[in-house]
Amino acid sequence: MAKWEENVRKVVPYTPGEQPDFPDMVKLNTNENPYPPCPAVQEKLRGLRYEDLRLYPAPGADSLVDALADYYGMQKEQVFVGVGSDDVLAMAFLTFFNGDKPILFPDITYSFYDVWAELFRIPYERQPLSGAFTIVKEDYYKPNGGVVFPNPNAPTGVELPLADIEDIIRHNRDVVVIVDEAYIDFGGVSARGLVEKYDNLLVVQTFSKSRSMAGLRIGYCFGCPKLIRYLNDAKYSFNSYTMNRPSLELGAAALWDEAYFRETVGRIMATRERTKERLAGLGFQFADSKSNFIFATHPQLPARELFEALKEKHIYVRYFSKPRIDNYLRITIGTDEQMDILIGFLEEYKKAMAGERA
Ligand code: PMP
Repeated sequence: MAKWEENVRKVVPYTPGEQPDFPDMVKLNTNENPYPPCPAVQEKLRGLRYEDLRLYPAPGADSLVDALADYYGMQKEQVFVGVGSDDVLAMAFLTFFNGDKPILFPDITYSFYDVWAELFRIPYERQPLSGAFTIVKEDYYKPNGGVVFPNPNAPTGVELPLADIEDIIRHNRDVVVIVDEAYIDFGGVSARGLVEKYDNLLVVQTFSKSRSMAGLRIGYCFGCPKLIRYLNDAKYSFNSYTMNRPSLELGAAALWDEAYFRETVGRIMATRERTKERLAGLGFQFADSKSNFIFATHPQLPARELFEALKEKHIYVRYFSKPRIDNYLRITIGTDEQMDILIGFLEEYKKAMAGERA
């Protein structure tokens, strides 16, 4: 090792899902939305000017913050935006998790949390999910340096009832509790309303899933004005211009078409329910998902082999080689047609495997 390497901030990075590019692929591996962004966004896109590239954006991202505050009925002082919710979450870890006690999060959860904790040298402790993949709220009642979990959880898709979330917040008034609601729009109940009641709650959401804008990178969060001020202080000490001008304009436009939003989210939820029935019919087992993915296992079909077989056919799902979940696949909900292709493959695969065993 070179001498200078001793000073390097070494981290094992987060591994994002693959972004393959084949014309015939069925891409169900990174929880993207199969439908395009709403027509207002497409129209705004055509109206973008060179000026939007030449000029710096407003450092406070005011137009998008105002649009979000209006849409959700919050004050703008309660809203913070970032480059995807990953940026918002990273900034929140950096800002609020600065004590000696470990922060707490589930053992099976978004695999970026331990990466940020390592990067920022935050001590952490994982709390095991129950056998049914539910968060055990009592595990979060002990002394800690902060709490973070997704709701619905990822990659399980399991929702924690709002009353349990409030219990966790109530037992943690001395630290910041972050609820990561990346998948909340697919049928979950948001903790957003609790922001008025608890000054230690941060609720994080994103345009990447329900609003079909993963490529643009827009995330946001709600918290009491003091929390948001602290977040902005950290942000302005890091990078004044996190949000580019096209993101600010297109992001605001994404909130204009409520009917389109409801329709596309509704379609994904309907496809999810149909997919659950068909997967169950094939013998797959999964906890009930309230997100735009299903986390499934099969008693006879090893997940890694199935993952590889699907990939050969350009059907992409996500596989995690991690304790407790290394026999599961996370399957994003696409269009009905995409799910038909997946199910068709699984039917054939299962038959072929049964033939091999016979
Ligand atoms: N939280 C969870 C639980 C996620 O699964 C993701 C998607 N990888 C994110 C946050 C980040 O999403 P984005 O940065 O696209 O908003």
